[in-house]
Amino acid sequence: MSQNRESAIKEIEWLRAEINRHDHLYYVQASPEISDQEYDALMRNLQKLETVWLDVIPPDSPTQRVGGKPIEGFTQIQHQVPMLSLSNTYNTEELNDFDQRVRELYGHEPEYVCELKIDGVAVSLSYIDRKLAFAVTRGDGQIGDDITNNVRTIRSIPLSVPEFMLSNFTVRGEIYYPRAEFEKMNRDRERDGLKPFMNPRNGAAGTLKMLDPQEVAKRPLRFFSYMLLSEIPNLTLHSEALDLLKKGNFPVNKEANVCQGLNEVIEYINIWSEKRRSLSYDTDGVVIKLNDLKAWDRLGATGKSPRWAVAYKFTTEQVVTKLLDVTWQIGRTGAVTPVAELEPVLLLGTVVKRATLHNEDEIRRLGIRKDDYVEIEKGGEIIPKVLRFIPEKRTDEAEEIEFLKTCPECGTELIRDESEVVLRCPNYECPAQVKGRISHFASRGAMDIDGLGAKTVEMLVDEELVKDISDLYKLDYDRIAQLDGMGEVSAEKLRKGIEASKNRSFERLLFGLGIRHVGISVARVLSQNYNDLDSLINTDVQQLQMIPEVGETIAESVKKYFGSDTNQRLIERLKQAGLISEVVKRKETPQTLKDKTFVLTGALSGYTRDSATDAIRAKGGSVTSSVSKKTDFVVAGEKPGSKYDKAIKLGVAILDEEQFISKIKDE
Ligand code: NAD
Repeated sequence: MSQNRESAIKEIEWLRAEINRHDHLYYVQASPEISDQEYDALMRNLQKLETVWLDVIPPDSPTQRVGGKPIEGFTQIQHQVPMLSLSNTYNTEELNDFDQRVRELYGHEPEYVCELKIDGVAVSLSYIDRKLAFAVTRGDGQIGDDITNNVRTIRSIPLSVPEFMLSNFTVRGEIYYPRAEFEKMNRDRERDGLKPFMNPRNGAAGTLKMLDPQEVAKRPLRFFSYMLLSEIPNLTLHSEALDLLKKGNFPVNKEANVCQGLNEVIEYINIWSEKRRSLSYDTDGVVIKLNDLKAWDRLGATGKSPRWAVAYKFTTEQVVTKLLDVTWQIGRTGAVTPVAELEPVLLLGTVVKRATLHNEDEIRRLGIRKDDYVEIEKGGEIIPKVLRFIPEKRTDEAEEIEFLKTCPECGTELIRDESEVVLRCPNYECPAQVKGRISHFASRGAMDIDGLGAKTVEMLVDEELVKDISDLYKLDYDRIAQLDGMGEVSAEKLRKGIEASKNRSFERLLFGLGIRHVGISVARVLSQNYNDLDSLINTDVQQLQMIPEVGETIAESVKKYFGSDTNQRLIERLKQAGLISEVVKRKETPQTLKDKTFVLTGALSGYTRDSATDAIRAKGGSVTSSVSKKTDFVVAGEKPGSKYDKAIKLGVAILDEEQFISKIKDE
């Protein structure tokens, strides 16, 4: 090895810091910057260097510990048996190495069990007296979070088990979000102005972190058990343990298969690397376990993974396309994000035209130029990202990417924010930020203003009719009707939408103001603790922090927002427009029709189409125009049309006016 000790130690330190940074991005912020493959490559490099150059590897090195972090608001529980991770392999050579090591240590011809590697969240379930007593996350492998109350809401997890099971035992498995349900949740989140989850694994992790089990119960999480931990007399094989779990009413993935030797393992992997796309849940590999349970202890573990198992990871899909340009997006907080504009290309079934480049440093790291051919990747639901450029395809035409010094929207000099990574436009009046703030205010999760989509916002700001959200409440609709592409109908729709927004609750208004760190759930908590805006404005950081869900960052952000002169003037104008006094009087309507889809047909005596639609929406339901199997209810008034016949054909529930009224009346 040509490297000397000094440079190896430097590299080890750099790798540790880099891996810790990616762990934080992945586990805490849920926004990884690199692919799992790239992450695993960093980890291996570190492993290799530590083995060659160090006599003792410190226990806090990322190679020695499982990466999870405790979740705020949950109690921690120590695992009786540590919950380890798995070593990863990406090709048959590495699998071969694993097989060789097992053969040497095991001393026999190994029989393996191949299982799909479910892409979810690991959980350990302890049963006492045949009843579910604790459900704990993996955490750092030694200590995890007690998520028992949330886990109890997952229907496929048995709360008690039949007599033939041991009275006390532990089962481990994976909680996951089925793909279709996940996509539906993300669509709803986007509609409600919330940030969508990046992938189903994230969605499952995010759901399990929620402090209210009733909210968790609304999400269709599922579970597969893959390991029975407690020793059971007469049970010698892992495949038998899986059978026993099945009999004990635990869901066990039916694709698990016993394989004799490595060739059968490779065959299993080859089949599932394609077939997995037809499954209704995400998998990111195959887990290969030695079937002989009695040998597990003997083979033991290295660092953070057992020696008797390995994960073969499926690679994510990549394609090469041309980078046409880099454009810059200015968000509502002024953050500047570079976006790769690509020659359209098909990737995992969708046409990709754009990919994120995160920030300037990322462009420098990639060294890409305009007109380069770049490799892009999409894993699961993750937004496509640029991995690298293809040096062999670079031509003389390739142009350096010009970094921005000034905001492309307003010309203000850009600054780097506290993190030193993100570029920001400091001009609060920058049209891009103004548009972003107004769109956020109007979004479904906030004031839900019908008729005020992104295009209309753009026009109103460009025409200087709106400078901030308070201007929405004094619009000149005659003038708006004259604008290109608007007309009287759209102007009237906008007027009605804005008028209706005065009926929204205090929490929606708080969320709509766009205070940093105040998402919809924090806004809800604040509205539950303060009766009106003035008492929130006049409170102090200490008082805010007395609310269990409000930490220092949120408290300071709220104070900073209301302390700014610009925002004080804005609140004053909103008060003058009559919005705030209206809004604070209203409490949020219970969302009893959440996720329910209605179709209206025929005439109702007490409702117009619009008022029936509003009543359904106010309770969280949605109204669509055509009946399908997914429709929950068809409301049939006088002289219903063909939708009524279709509902009968598809077996969709039909409500008459009286039944409809009882569904939407306040409880
Ligand atoms: P892992 O996801 O590679 O594998 C271990 C997990 O697999 C187990 O904890 C278990 O929950 C799960 N699993 C699913 N099905 C299973 C089955 N049938 N049998 C046994 N286990 C099964 O490891 P990890 O420790 O959870 O996460 C580390 C990995 O996460 C890294 O290797 C990397 O790929 C990824 N990661 C990526 C980044 C990034 O920045 N991209 C950062 C940190 C971690």
